[in-house]
Amino acid sequence: MTRVTVVGAGFVGMTCAQRLAEQEIAEEIVLIDVIEGRPQGIALDLNQAAAVLGYQAKVVGTNDPADTSGSDLFIMTAGLPRKPGMDRSDLVEVNGKIINAVADYIKAGSPESKVIVVSNPLDTMVYLMAERLGFDKKRVVGMAGVLDSARMAFFISDALGGGVADARCMVLGGHGDSMVPMPQFSTMDGVSVTALLPDAQVDAINARTQHGGAEIVNLLKTGSAYYAPAAAAVAMAKSILRNERRLLPSAASLDGQYGLSGIYMGVPCVLGSNGVERIVELELDDAGMAKLNASADAIRKDIETLREKGLL
Ligand code: NAD
Repeated sequence: MTRVTVVGAGFVGMTCAQRLAEQEIAEEIVLIDVIEGRPQGIALDLNQAAAVLGYQAKVVGTNDPADTSGSDLFIMTAGLPRKPGMDRSDLVEVNGKIINAVADYIKAGSPESKVIVVSNPLDTMVYLMAERLGFDKKRVVGMAGVLDSARMAFFISDALGGGVADARCMVLGGHGDSMVPMPQFSTMDGVSVTALLPDAQVDAINARTQHGGAEIVNLLKTGSAYYAPAAAAVAMAKSILRNERRLLPSAASLDGQYGLSGIYMGVPCVLGSNGVERIVELELDDAGMAKLNASADAIRKDIETLREKGLL
């Protein structure tokens, strides 16, 4: 039986549980939160929806870490989201404490599991999760690039008047304002977007993608995006659990790739049953490399904050 635990029954977590159940990606989905009653209530609601929709997956809501034991995969969504005006880096300390607490029970109860981290600031939180777990780093990966690429894909298809299903985009680097949209590796069904749209429009789409999260935070006033983030995390989970080996931009541990080491950052990854099966190195020009290095510097700054706060 495949068991997936979603940590955090907030907006992203509950939507992940819904998508996992509806697509029957796992037979059992454990939803855990520190708020009493919330994961249990959402689990009941989702199990009752199964009577209408006909899916076979069962959702279990709990506040007890022991109930997550033996999970094949965790999607870690616990932690505070941004408020308008906040930077993702403002969440380092509060969410870092939550990551460490959750890592301890993942390690104790599910030592063979794979972990997808969603909590922000993403690249720093996935780094902390991997350090605390001590697992093979291939088994710990962060979700950001699939979401950022989806945002870019929507903006491109919208500019072209539709066809979102054919838009495949690549956004690399950290999940912050320093992320690096790659129009040269983005296509509409194989045709480069640089051949389809004028440069100025591509530049505007790159900038809107970089601030795509803040755009939604400012509109919502409280909380941040969750439909596309959950869709992205679940696509990664599916590629791992079903060994689909999809090439998905994900935050992976770098060991010399792109000339970088000792950090997690968004790069194209093949995701399969071992987690990150392979990191694909794209040939970048000097400007692209400079942007990636700037993104890495921003991540290192947050990792330094973790050390200063005694969380690492
Ligand atoms: P939310 O506030 O709706 O939910 C967070 C939940 O975590 C709450 O229900 C809270 O009770 C729970 N929680 C807190 N500590 C916990 C613990 N120790 N164990 C279990 N649960 C705990 O927030 P959200 O909108 O669901 O976002 C969750 C996180 O995901 C935030 O950090 C947000 O910034 C991040 N996020 C990341 C991306 C990305 O691209 N990587 C996208 C969207 C959101």
